[in-house]
Amino acid sequence: MKRREELTLIERLYLFEVIKGVAQTSGDLIKHFLLYIGQVVGLNKTKKPWATYEYPDEARPYAERCRGRHRLTLNPEGSVRCTACFLCATACPAKYISIDATEHENSEIEKFPHRYEIDTLLCIYCGYCVEACPVDAIRMDTGIHPEIYPPDPRAFIEDKETLMMRSRVLEDQGPEALFKAHMNKLKAIETKPFEGEY
Ligand code: SF4
Ligand code: SF4
Repeated sequence: MKRREELTLIERLYLFEVIKGVAQTSGDLIKHFLLYIGQVVGLNKTKKPWATYEYPDEARPYAERCRGRHRLTLNPEGSVRCTACFLCATACPAKYISIDATEHENSEIEKFPHRYEIDTLLCIYCGYCVEACPVDAIRMDTGIHPEIYPPDPRAFIEDKETLMMRSRVLEDQGPEALFKAHMNKLKAIETKPFEGEY
């Protein structure tokens, strides 16, 4: 890019540039105001005249490829699919997947995770755990993100039941139900009067 060193006479006078700036700002203001009026009277429903979202009443839609909170996928009969191979925990650069493996009562299954926890406060949402899993037992396709300040800090640590429950809700009620429950929870946190601690 060539840098322009010299200003023209009109630019050096500034007045013309100030008028140009005011005209641009006023034009945008009038355009968005007319769009807003159009929406109020029921016209032009598709285009929003503002770029902001009424959070937490209105949620900004996430991109489909957004890495959301984890979930542990399930076998057809509802048991956890994870085989406690530890590959996800080994691949995790934050080293915050914690697994306790135990023997399965079914002799055909070698082991399963008795305890499976992810500390989402330390997770960097890189997705390496998902890529490392050889049996598609962990996914990040929930479309929801963690609460930034849950009422109880221990809620940052997501256990096996929480991670499995997301899969159940997704299968039984669809992603909208998961997202709605998530937004309701966030809304409750956002609108709760501050009482000295979160
Ligand atoms: S997303 Fe990355 S940091 Fe988070 S648990 Fe998975 S591997 Fe670890
Ligand atoms: S989630 Fe996948 S990679 Fe991690 S322990 Fe279970 S089976 Fe292995």
